[in-house]
Amino acid sequence: MAYINDNYLKLKAGYLFPEIGRRYRAFAAANPSAKIIRCGIGDVTEPLAPAVITAMQKAVGEMASRETFKGYGDEQGCDFLREAIAKHDYQSRGCDIAADEVFVSDGSKCDTGNILDILGHNNVIAMTDPVYPVYVDTNVMAGNTGASNDKGEYAGLVYLPTTAENNFTPELPTRRVDVIYLCYPNNPTGAVATRETLAKWIAYAKANDTLILYDAAYYAYITDPAIPHSIYELPGGRDVAIEFRSYSKTAGFTGTRCAYTVVPKSVTGKAADGSRVDFHRLWNRRHTTKFNGVAYIVQRGAEATYSAEGKPQVKATIDFYMQNAAIIRKTLAELGLKVYGGVNAPYIWLKTPNNLKSWEFFDKLLSEAHVVGTPGSGFGAAGEGYFRISAFNSRANVEEAMNRFRTRLKI
Ligand SMILES: *Cc1c(COP(=O)(O)O)cnc(C)c1O
Repeated sequence: MAYINDNYLKLKAGYLFPEIGRRYRAFAAANPSAKIIRCGIGDVTEPLAPAVITAMQKAVGEMASRETFKGYGDEQGCDFLREAIAKHDYQSRGCDIAADEVFVSDGSKCDTGNILDILGHNNVIAMTDPVYPVYVDTNVMAGNTGASNDKGEYAGLVYLPTTAENNFTPELPTRRVDVIYLCYPNNPTGAVATRETLAKWIAYAKANDTLILYDAAYYAYITDPAIPHSIYELPGGRDVAIEFRSYSKTAGFTGTRCAYTVVPKSVTGKAADGSRVDFHRLWNRRHTTKFNGVAYIVQRGAEATYSAEGKPQVKATIDFYMQNAAIIRKTLAELGLKVYGGVNAPYIWLKTPNNLKSWEFFDKLLSEAHVVGTPGSGFGAAGEGYFRISAFNSRANVEEAMNRFRTRLKI
């Protein structure tokens, strides 16, 4: 008999996206003529940049002859890509990050979950609420929590509520924590961290010996030049933080798969005997043991996002999504809704009208306007009463969805 990992039984059954899918299908079946527009899912809609396609096609060609064929590569990523990342994403912005501190992977979702492999089980773990559900669920799976209550909060985690009341900037934890997850620009709220906010977190981390897990999946959507793209832009960032980045949202790689995690050699944790150990060594060991590298073809595609042709092409797609975000923001604000985000992030976070619960507003929007969004409560207890609209869509869909908000939704 094989025993199971009982921690999986603690996970809330009605996970957000399956429940959205269930209600969507039920409505579509009952209303076959309704043309439903999906503004809920955080997935890109536009094709890869031409420079990325050309680079991948060339790499496919290399696979066709013995002289240029590639087998296993370095698990940590090809040197050309690690060097391009260190140079273009970090050194060009004044960050002291070297190529050998960059670990190329198949996704930030995987990395933000896998990072728990190198952390002990006695850490006090904090996260902002609402947040990308992967941080919570992977901690539940790893046995770092107790059971959940009816609001979906797990015993043992420290939740830092981020709401309109605190301007979506959480207070520092009132108790000492060992690990804090930060995600900026934030999914789902669209909030960003200023230099002052990040400096405050770094000071907290130094004073309390806290590890910051910094998810910057949406850094490319930052339009305000004063907002840092990386936590390493701040003094001391490289002593306390591991940063996760992905080509998924920045370059449309959600189906192509390529990401990276930066583990500076200066970030350390404590061993059971009290000695300090650098996380770089542990992550390198984990990565080379449990992962066998991203496809060479895909890494060539990722490299092309930094080329003279690729860079403006990638930026044009981001600009396109951000124009969608501006259209959504403007329309919803004109309707008198309270809207947040959508300026430095592809998500618009709105306060539901008339204090509706998130799921009540979901059902109302679906039945009246035939538009699907994402209930804020699915991202955490503090997301109750909010709702996320994604800017990842065709222009025609965005315009039609906004038209229906205007003409069909009874606010
Ligand atoms: C989409 C997203 C990611 C990226 O995940 P991949 O596995 O690289 O596609 C990471 N973090 C957040 C918050 C996201 O929304």
